Amino acid sequence: MERWRSYRSYLEERFHAPVYRIGIDGGFSCPNRDKDGRGGCSFCDGTGAVAVYHRQSESGFHHDSAYDGSTASRLLPRLDSIESQIERGREFLIRRYGAEMFSLYFQSFTNTYDSIGNLERIYGRALSTGCYAEFIVSTRPDSLPDDVIALLSSYRTDDMDIWVELGLQSGSDETLRRIGRGHDVASYIDAAERLHRAGINVSTHIIIGLPGEGREDYERTAKVVGAAGSEGVKIHNLHIAGGTRMADEYLEGLVTASSEERYLEDAELVLRLLSPDTIIQRLVCETPAHRLIAPRSFPDKSRFLSHLKARMERRGTRQGDLYGC
Ligand code: SF4
Repeated sequence: MERWRSYRSYLEERFHAPVYRIGIDGGFSCPNRDKDGRGGCSFCDGTGAVAVYHRQSESGFHHDSAYDGSTASRLLPRLDSIESQIERGREFLIRRYGAEMFSLYFQSFTNTYDSIGNLERIYGRALSTGCYAEFIVSTRPDSLPDDVIALLSSYRTDDMDIWVELGLQSGSDETLRRIGRGHDVASYIDAAERLHRAGINVSTHIIIGLPGEGREDYERTAKVVGAAGSEGVKIHNLHIAGGTRMADEYLEGLVTASSEERYLEDAELVLRLLSPDTIIQRLVCETPAHRLIAPRSFPDKSRFLSHLKARMERRGTRQGDLYGC
C-alpha cells in the first residue's frame, strides 16, 4: 500500500499510462530578481530549474527569440529554440524510459512573466509540437494577471489538463519576508482561487527547513495548502546553493541544512497533515553537486524515498492521517 498519493499513481489513474514531463526553459526571467537587484529569494542562485537533458548541453545553447539575453537576473547560458528543447527532451525520455505519453512543463524561472502576446506565442509554439496529457506552467503567485489565467484556461481540453505550479515555500508571512520572496500568503490564496475558478489545477511548492521554521510552521504551511485546495504539492528540504544570500548566512552560522533524519521526520509530518487526496509530486530536490553547499551528505532520491516509506510503515502513519486535526 502506498503511504502517500504519488504523482505516478495519479497519472496512471488519470491517463491509464505513465506520463513523462518534457521540461522547457522558455527564456523567462523573474520579477523578484529583476526588481531591486538584491537577487530575489535568498536561496535562489539564479540558474532556475533545468531538466537533466538540458543540463548536459548547457555549454552548447543557442539563442532563442523568446529570450533576448539582456536580463541580468538570468545566469544560464543562451537557449536552444523551444522546439529543439522539446525534441531533445522527447528523445531522451523515449531512450531512457520508453516513454509514449508526455506533458509539457515550462519549468525555469517565472513562466508567466512576459506580455500576453509573447506568452501566447511562446506557449503556442510549444503546444504545436504534438499532443500532450498536461500543460504545466511554473510561476509566482504575484505574476498571474487575469488575462494570463484566461489564456492558460483556453488550452484546456478533455484530453489535456492545465496545471500552474505556484511557489509558496512557507505558509508564514514572517518567513516569506525573511527569505525575500516578495509576496505574501494572501497572494498565494488569491492566485489559487482564481486558477480554480478557471478550471486550472494548482501545484504548490514548499520548502522544509527554512530559517527559523519548525513543526508549528510546517503545520501552518500544510493548512494553508489545504485551505487553498491545491491539487498537488512539491516538497523538498532546503538546499543551500553557492552564490546565494542563504549561502552567506550558512557560512556565518545563521542557517543550517537538515540532516536526512530531520527531514524524514519533517516530511512525514507534512504528509500526515495534508489531505489524503493531495497528489505528492515531489519529495526530493536534486541540485547539481557543483552548485550545492549543503546538505552534502544526503541520500539520493530513491534511497530517501525508500527510507521515508520504511519509516512510515514502521510507525503505521500515512498521508492525511492528521488532516483536519
Ligand atoms: S521566484 Fe524563483 S526564480 Fe525568482 S528569485 Fe525566487 S526562486 Fe529565484
